[in-house]
Amino acid sequence: MSKQLFFNNFRNFISQYKRVVIVSHVNPDGDAIGSSLAFYYFLLKFGIDAKVIIPNDFPSFLAWMPGVENILTYDKNPEKGLEYLNNADLICYLDFNHPSRTGLVHNDLCHCKKTPRLLIDHHRDTDYSQFAMYLSEAETSSTSELVAELIQYHGFEKYLDDKIATCLLVGIMTDTGSFAHSIYHPETFEICGKMISPTVDYQLIHSKIYNTFSENRLRLLGYCISNRMTTLNEYHTAYIYLTKSDLETYNYQVGDTEGVVNFPLMIENIKMAVLITERQGVIRFSFRSKGDFSVHELAKAHFNGGGHTNAAGGTLECGIEQAIEKFLDVLPQYKSLLNQ
Ligand code: 5GP
Ligand code: MN
Repeated sequence: MSKQLFFNNFRNFISQYKRVVIVSHVNPDGDAIGSSLAFYYFLLKFGIDAKVIIPNDFPSFLAWMPGVENILTYDKNPEKGLEYLNNADLICYLDFNHPSRTGLVHNDLCHCKKTPRLLIDHHRDTDYSQFAMYLSEAETSSTSELVAELIQYHGFEKYLDDKIATCLLVGIMTDTGSFAHSIYHPETFEICGKMISPTVDYQLIHSKIYNTFSENRLRLLGYCISNRMTTLNEYHTAYIYLTKSDLETYNYQVGDTEGVVNFPLMIENIKMAVLITERQGVIRFSFRSKGDFSVHELAKAHFNGGGHTNAAGGTLECGIEQAIEKFLDVLPQYKSLLNQ
């Protein structure tokens, strides 16, 4: 389904539904929260009873965003979440394309298989057969940009308000590293320009997201770079690892490692950066790259994950040493690609 067709048909399609649940991915980021809340506010304007469900909590630097008080966090209230899902006549997936990305919600999503699904997302490798409607554009900065385009199509004069604009700017800003990457066309800047206004202050939004670190979070960042970063120049790669005890030392809070993986890319000639973190029972991988090297392919092939060309994630069920070993073992296969 083309973008244009989605936009043309959206109004008729959505008017068939009364109770719509919006779901986003586990460990929700600025784009997950921003796109879900903006879409939620947009649906309310059509008189739809909309709900937002996230699998687990969002980082505290997003807690000021308009509408977060309306989000249901599944792991805190699974009964209510299940009730929302069971009552829904449409379920919308925002900022992910595979139900396995919804953590705890996944199981309950399987129980309401018959409820139609709508997708708005910018990840690759989508199985479109699951969706009654989809807006799926991998060459777009963020899901928030897609929601912005949808709302613009219906008329910013009529539907855009400060809350929606703020949510969408957060999503686009965070998924592009403050407009530093993942920008595929000038329309990204144009649509943001249209959402900024005297009452929607981009610099203030930026500051609320990036200048609200705890002291521990900044010290953890320093520790990562000084004590836990290894550069492998032969592979133009740098990795950082963090153990559970490292996280405890710095009183880790959700979101504190957000952005850490980007720092090694500041080194000239480093094309791939990796953050390997020991979480409860699993090892999380975060991959970033510069240029054509696809961390999506690497995450998909070896780390049960995926994402985008320049940003991907994955998981292994093993210890931290084995995880690092596994990473070092697969690296030689990518030597020529990393040296291009
Ligand atoms: P992050 O490193 O910030 O956790 O994730 C970077 C990007 O990869 C995000 O766009 C995210 O949606 C995607 N991603 C992260 N983890 C996974 C995963 O386990 N599977 C898939 N398919 N995508 C992931
Ligand atoms: Mn996104």
